[in-house]
Amino acid sequence: MTDSTRRSPSDPEAQGRAGQPGNAPGQIEGPLTVLVVAAHPDDPEFGAGGTSALWAKQGREVFQLVCTNGEKGSSDPEMTSDRLVELREEEQKCAAATLGVKKVYFLRLPDGEISPDLTLRRGIVKAIRMVRPEIVITHDPTNVYGDNNLTHPDHRAVGHATLDAIYPTARDRLNFPEHEKAGLLPHKVREVLLWGAKEPNFWVDIAETFDTKIAALRCHTTQIPDTEQMEKRMRERAEQLARERPADDTRPLLAEAFRRITLLR
Ligand SMILES: [Zn+2]
Repeated sequence: MTDSTRRSPSDPEAQGRAGQPGNAPGQIEGPLTVLVVAAHPDDPEFGAGGTSALWAKQGREVFQLVCTNGEKGSSDPEMTSDRLVELREEEQKCAAATLGVKKVYFLRLPDGEISPDLTLRRGIVKAIRMVRPEIVITHDPTNVYGDNNLTHPDHRAVGHATLDAIYPTARDRLNFPEHEKAGLLPHKVREVLLWGAKEPNFWVDIAETFDTKIAALRCHTTQIPDTEQMEKRMRERAEQLARERPADDTRPLLAEAFRRITLLR
């Protein structure tokens, strides 16, 4: 990077041992640009709302890309998909503004019907080449099921397509050459953070922005009828993730956890 005030996320002095659980919570230095890529409205807040708010507060530019409008996400017999598209886009804009996100982009692909194909990858590559983030945060596509749950196929599709978009597609100029013709140059992402990971190796202390995360989630009124219960569940989850971090004297009380991949070149 030509700007000497910027430190590469892979700079050992800035990072400690990159990718190791000994890193202090949230320890990614520098005025970085961050892109959060998610399948549905509300996923960016559930997965990385505290981290997004924290980093925005610290002066980083945080962007969101939401791939579908979640227009299947209602059991209300009066609701239609067309109405839900509009409502959920507004809810996402409300949540993004609450977190301090600079801009939210929508791909508007069909909810429940996406796969990690070239249509999805093209849209994500375009966003990466526009936003030019050092860090991309998205779903962990390798987490298919837990003891009591299955992951949504759209989440896996977006996770897979985002990894494929980062490497090698966005980096190599001859992929989707229409982007270059439109003035969007190739871009190398430096770090990937995956939420929902079975084996996290990076924890962000979100105690300072937990309330902001909850406030952003409250924007999703079509999805979260019982906000008290949601807050209780989110607090328990953040406490549990904090406890799972390998113990040291900087253990956070509330955390978001990620699988962190540092792309060395
Ligand atoms: Zn979702």
